[in-house]
Amino acid sequence: MKLTFLGTGTSTGVPSIACDCETCLSDDPRDKRLRVSILVEHKDKKVLVDTSSDFRQQALRAGIRHLDAVLITHCHVDHVFGLDDIRPLNFRHGAMPIFANEIAWIDLRRIFEYIFKPTHFGGGLPQLIPHTVTPNAPFMIGEDVTVTPLEVIHGKLPVIAYRFNDFAYATDLNFISDETISGLQDLDVLVLDCVRLKPHSTHLGLNEALEYAERIGARRTYLTHLNHDIMYSRDSKLLPENVQFAYDELVVEAY
Ligand SMILES: [Zn+2]
Ligand SMILES: [Zn+2]
Ligand SMILES: [Zn+2]
Repeated sequence: MKLTFLGTGTSTGVPSIACDCETCLSDDPRDKRLRVSILVEHKDKKVLVDTSSDFRQQALRAGIRHLDAVLITHCHVDHVFGLDDIRPLNFRHGAMPIFANEIAWIDLRRIFEYIFKPTHFGGGLPQLIPHTVTPNAPFMIGEDVTVTPLEVIHGKLPVIAYRFNDFAYATDLNFISDETISGLQDLDVLVLDCVRLKPHSTHLGLNEALEYAERIGARRTYLTHLNHDIMYSRDSKLLPENVQFAYDELVVEAY
């Protein structure tokens, strides 16, 4: 299973507009972060998690020519506002399935009414087949990719973390229940929220992220959704050996 980090930044991206901090002025490409999203590839299947606000740029940069499914973690702007840019893939390959939890669907259907309400026609609309996921109820994409949705909490919002075989992606959360922690055992690779060094009301700060990383105990953990408090070269020394900050365009093989 191949993972490509399409974006690893918080909702503003890094650099942040009008900021002159050390990270925002850094020349290190690992400090340039588009909004969070990951591409998961296994055999001939390609699955995108979240259509970030930067999806068009990410798809061009990663050379995405085809997707078998889109999975949505939750309906916040940084995770879904690239949804309309799925259209060129529809023009080439037709409709594709999109998965989200019930609460995300309420907002997705309202914000993207022109896509999901059958009264709107024509004009090159995105072609998406909606599916609702239920936590702990696995589903298949093709014959080889089993996806298990797991619930995590982001402030007060239930968000979906996705497990694919021995890899799991869990961003936008500040609480993980014991039940979800049990669903995250025996992972090779975990990608986990870590918005900044200090604690945060709806995300994990560094210490909280490291505590969860240790409890979950994946062989390797990559931290994502990073803001400009975190400078890759300066702050990587704060991490234990099996934990790293993710960066845009990083490719990881999970077994
Ligand atoms: Zn976010
Ligand atoms: Zn900054
Ligand atoms: Zn969010």
